[in-house]
Amino acid sequence: MQTVLKVSPATLKKMAATYPANRKLPAGAAFAAKLAQVTITGYKSGKVLFQGAQAAAEAARWGEVSAAGAGKASVASDLPANFARLSVLGSDEVGTGSYFGPLTTAAVYVASDQVAQLEKLGVRDSKQLTDPQIRQLAHQITATCPYHVLDLAPHDYNRLIKQYNQAQLKALCHNFVLLKVEEKIAPTKPAAVLIDQFVKPATYFKYLRGQEEILRQDVYFKEKGEGYHVAVAAASIVARAYSLATIDRLSEAAGMTLPIGAGVKVDQIGKQLVAKGLDLDQFAKLHFANTKRIRGVR
Ligand code: MN
Repeated sequence: MQTVLKVSPATLKKMAATYPANRKLPAGAAFAAKLAQVTITGYKSGKVLFQGAQAAAEAARWGEVSAAGAGKASVASDLPANFARLSVLGSDEVGTGSYFGPLTTAAVYVASDQVAQLEKLGVRDSKQLTDPQIRQLAHQITATCPYHVLDLAPHDYNRLIKQYNQAQLKALCHNFVLLKVEEKIAPTKPAAVLIDQFVKPATYFKYLRGQEEILRQDVYFKEKGEGYHVAVAAASIVARAYSLATIDRLSEAAGMTLPIGAGVKVDQIGKQLVAKGLDLDQFAKLHFANTKRIRGVR
């Protein structure tokens, strides 16, 4: 199987930044990469050759498909037909905007024959659900669907955020939990993977460069992804349930209820923590501006 694209210099550059440079460059090539099911060679002329079982699918991600010899034909870069009913592996994270508490990322696999059942249970945008509903739905989701959660405690988050920007850290977390679930459901393959979008796809894959394993087959991105497939809504609910449990544990350790968000209330509680002699590193994401306000540093 082979697909040829003719791309602009800008797209060629983007492609070179997206794929791992793990193959020797043939003559005239600008980049060359070998993934699990497709080998990609981009030539300085703008011609990009995709070879292997996933050639067409991988080429379609770039949208500028023109079958070899034929004129330009655009390929839908949007979701496959009937997407909401497909077997989808979805991922989402919570906690990025909250000073206290973890960064929690979850991936959930929802097989097509489970979609209706989860929708009936009320699995939908976690922001519309109360905490008790979140806990109950998460319990039901994790009892029936393969999933994985990465609940990054503040202490670990603070260590990693010195090395990565927040969006990059999120990309690493999504890739990690998605690969874990893919392993758990093997040899079954999801029809598609849907990531609740937080950066452009090209940026997401750029952030993952150098990673040993990158999930990229049939990967789609959508903002408000929970509206496109219940798997993202399920991932969001599971992430939120874990996050709630961790914040409860941290609140207990702090001896006071840790509020979410990054507002005035958060600063007040932060000052009380410090006054008690507690280490903010155990409770909060230290790179937020709240830290300076709490510690009174200018
Ligand atoms: Mn999200």
